[in-house]
Amino acid sequence: MIRFLSRVAKAIKGIIMHLTYQRVIPWKNWCNVCERWTAFVCITPGERFVRSCVRCRSTPKYRAIVKAVEETTSRPLSQHMAGGAKLYELTTKSPICRRYSNLTNYVCSGYFWNKPFGIEIKPRVYNQDCQRLSFPDASFEIAISSETMEHVRKPWVGFSEIHRVLKPGGTYFFTIPYRDDCMTKSRVDVSGTEDVYLLPKIFHDDPYRSEDSLVYTDFGRDLPLQLRPFGFETTVLRIRDERMDIQDDLAPIIVFVAKRVE
Ligand SMILES: [Zn+2]
Repeated sequence: MIRFLSRVAKAIKGIIMHLTYQRVIPWKNWCNVCERWTAFVCITPGERFVRSCVRCRSTPKYRAIVKAVEETTSRPLSQHMAGGAKLYELTTKSPICRRYSNLTNYVCSGYFWNKPFGIEIKPRVYNQDCQRLSFPDASFEIAISSETMEHVRKPWVGFSEIHRVLKPGGTYFFTIPYRDDCMTKSRVDVSGTEDVYLLPKIFHDDPYRSEDSLVYTDFGRDLPLQLRPFGFETTVLRIRDERMDIQDDLAPIIVFVAKRVE
């Protein structure tokens, strides 16, 4: 009965959101990614409740990541970049990439299935499998990813690689699908060479191929604890900001701030 009522309440909330959601927030809002006054508009097909900056196409998740950088370091990302901090981003398709890819201290990578991994495709743009990064140890002050680690077959190997390429004191800022009422669980047994599905397959859009990308892991509230043995001290930030339109279905966006402490 309680479950039924909560489903009804969720459905009513969904209907109200659909009816009242403002698809355009007009001019005179601040985008902290491109650092310009802008409007936020729903422009991504299929993402009805995601408003992007009309000037740099940043989504709320990227604005949350950039805000997390400023909140935890007391300096905006633009100042870190102007000061020469080395940044590695695990995508070639983000508003951060579009803004900083011309700087020599910005490095990014994609996951191009049909090309060899670990190589530089063009200056400072790599094809990388984050389970075996080709960068030397302690290369970067900042690493950034958004909605990536849930697709990594062995995510803990990925986290340990990101730890390895961060300089001591460096920080990995990331978002992932996350539920704080659950513990982390693998959706797939990856102990053998073949994937064995433990839970129904879930897929998300893959920006690097026409097929969708499998979700290997559901992350839960134990994530900071799980990252501790790798040498990360992890803070979970819940960010909501009306002026910058940082929200996810009217809830805060959760950004993980994993600092390399060992
Ligand atoms: Zn912008």
